[in-house]
Amino acid sequence: MKRLHLRVTALSPLAIRSDHAPQGVKTTHYVPGMTLSGALAASHRMLRPEQEEEFAALFLQERISFPYLYPASFQHPRFQKYQSPIMPVPKTAQSCKRFSGFPLLEDEEKDEEYHGVRDSLLDWGIFAMLNNEASSIRELLTPLRSHVTCPYINEKTGKGCNHPMDHFSGFYRRNQAGQRKQAEVKTRLQTHTGINREWGTAQEGVLYNREVIDETMQFWGELWLPAELERSFKQFLNEASTEDVIRLGTGRTRGLGAVSIQAEEAPTWEPEPFKRKLTLFNEAVQKRTQEAGIQQRAPFYFAITLHSPAILCDPFLCYLKTITPRALAERTGLPAHQFQCIYQSTGVQRITGWYEVWGTPRTTEYAIEMGSVFLFASSAPLDEELIQALATLEQTGIGKRRNEGFGRVCISDPFHLEADC
Ligand SMILES: [Zn+2]
Repeated sequence: MKRLHLRVTALSPLAIRSDHAPQGVKTTHYVPGMTLSGALAASHRMLRPEQEEEFAALFLQERISFPYLYPASFQHPRFQKYQSPIMPVPKTAQSCKRFSGFPLLEDEEKDEEYHGVRDSLLDWGIFAMLNNEASSIRELLTPLRSHVTCPYINEKTGKGCNHPMDHFSGFYRRNQAGQRKQAEVKTRLQTHTGINREWGTAQEGVLYNREVIDETMQFWGELWLPAELERSFKQFLNEASTEDVIRLGTGRTRGLGAVSIQAEEAPTWEPEPFKRKLTLFNEAVQKRTQEAGIQQRAPFYFAITLHSPAILCDPFLCYLKTITPRALAERTGLPAHQFQCIYQSTGVQRITGWYEVWGTPRTTEYAIEMGSVFLFASSAPLDEELIQALATLEQTGIGKRRNEGFGRVCISDPFHLEADC
């Protein structure tokens, strides 16, 4: 498998249909993989209608995984230029309710205040383990106390912030020094006139609003494809960008959705950093379990964080609301009894859409939301077999429709150990 980093620039405003808003006024702040693959398939039809074999290889045989595109615009010039991955903020992230966000860097103007972001996964994990051991209420609440109020202390006045902590969401990028910044999404409302169906002219008295993402916004995503398709895909993408035929999202007949896409080869995947992040995460959990005095400790803990929605079904084809040990066992080839889910922070979203290729609506499906987090215990210690199984899971994803970017996961995301407040 080859991995390409896609850099997408909006040349005109974008409107991406939100499944959460049936009225269609709101736009989502990311581009689903199926929207991207549909847009590229339509461009291919336009540019190379005679090349049916290439069309089938790129869009019909499900060999390419078209990624979700995340917003990648930053005020900070270094973060804007930097090409490291963009990731959705996990559901367990928290920040100050009043001054929410990653802290300012040294070279940033200090006219605004951000009190930093921390993660609550380990707190909740320890809470769940203590609960299993029927601990006293006082013991139970200890791990959760750290995220009741904002611990920020103003350097000049020496005064604490003490505002309540709140849920924090969005997309972020990490630089080589480990500093993090949240991607910005600039949107505005566009007003349109309704069209009279009979006359095809503006309908008197009908005006409506649409939220659109501003032109010049950047997006980022990682595409997976077999090595033998890399050349033809890159050539086609280049041609489509140069000819300015790629249109993403809705309102394409009204001039919305023009984008250019550049693809660069991603750095090669290294086993050592992967192993290190698994070990670091496990050590952090082990330390916390020891501190909390938990008796029954598993030899190995790992987290699964969803970087895109995941569609999972049980053997009876019912949608799963969680990653079950059984689903994990099926993907890793390891026994289900080896895994136990300690804690999870998840949500479910409805997935609708349109087959761009066939021009027909898709059946509605239900997915576990992007950013969902699962903490698992493994009854077997970390050995080569487990490393390999988890590495394959991260590199190939989980669940259905992975060719449309669903089911991307990150194992033991370092985000869960980081805190700047
Ligand atoms: Zn604060």
